Amino acid sequence: MSTAPIDLRSDTVTRPTLAMRRAMAEAEVGDDVLNEDPTVLKLQEKTAQLFGKEAALFVPSGTMANQIAVGVHTRPGDELVCDPSAHVYLWEGGGIARLWGVTSRTVDPAEGVLGLSDLRGKVRPDDSHYVRTRMISLENTHNRAGGRIHPITAIAEISGWARAHNLAMHLDGARILNAVVASGIPAAEWGRYFDTVSICYSKGLGAPVGSALVGSADVIHEAHRLRKVLGGGMRQTGVIAAAALHALEHHVDRLAEDHANARLLAAAVEETPGLALESGRVETNLVWIAVDPALGTARELAARLHDDGILVSALGPQVLRACTHLDVSRADVERAAGALRRAATLAHA
Ligand SMILES: *Cc1c(COP(=O)(O)O)cnc(C)c1O
Repeated sequence: MSTAPIDLRSDTVTRPTLAMRRAMAEAEVGDDVLNEDPTVLKLQEKTAQLFGKEAALFVPSGTMANQIAVGVHTRPGDELVCDPSAHVYLWEGGGIARLWGVTSRTVDPAEGVLGLSDLRGKVRPDDSHYVRTRMISLENTHNRAGGRIHPITAIAEISGWARAHNLAMHLDGARILNAVVASGIPAAEWGRYFDTVSICYSKGLGAPVGSALVGSADVIHEAHRLRKVLGGGMRQTGVIAAAALHALEHHVDRLAEDHANARLLAAAVEETPGLALESGRVETNLVWIAVDPALGTARELAARLHDDGILVSALGPQVLRACTHLDVSRADVERAAGALRRAATLAHA
């Protein structure tokens, strides 16, 4: 048995492949703050095209891409609307308020992800007592909702309504290509409902660093300024953009394997007494697991799995998350499924 643990904590743990490292070593570079890095320019053009947008901006992280989007679409005192488990609200250190002076209104989705019926009536009146509702942020796939795909029909309805109310639409598309591969709906089809989309190359796509924001030429021009303000202007960035380009060229279709592996893990969860899929089903590469207190806490179960060579994240008192990705094979997932069953049985011993 191999001694290296199987790391299912996140799809961010992937390491660049040899071919990716070669592409990085051979990248043509220039000063990207001066817009002179040919590899970055190529990546930005390819990414913009993928989403049917005019322009894209390479940034160090998905968090920076989302925060720049908030900065571009709002002024201090404006309001952003999202669901309470959205990454932009929950896991970005309060950047919406700290960086931009924007308030957040969280709206609970009735069914996992937001629909138009959740949002109707949530635009503040044009009255000096109120903040100005300015922006809607959605997430696809939705991490905390179990890696779910936000149905495109719901997105289309929300987008039409948002435009009628003069609200900007942002998509946190950290894992949008997982949604593209799982649904068969092209990136540009999702993109047309949004003013800006963020995408992470560093998740399941397997690049070591990097994200992008896509949008109109005007929006991305302003985003370039905000990236500088946040300290995200980098220089010979082609070295890392080459990894992202390699990922777009070679690691998109294979996301289907991650999804099949996640389903295998999900089946093991469903068969194991005391474990359940938190959101009822697995659609992409994230498996959120509800742990019955009879098996102990999520941390205790994660510790037993750790002893068995499997790393998962405890993300709530009774919640585990396991992610499949580029560095996890079918055999690894079969072993993880066995370890899950053993860990649950040990609790009863
Ligand atoms: C990972 C992630 C981000 C942020 O990406 P970082 O590169 O870690 O800053 C944003 N949104 C979602 C849904 C994510 O999963």
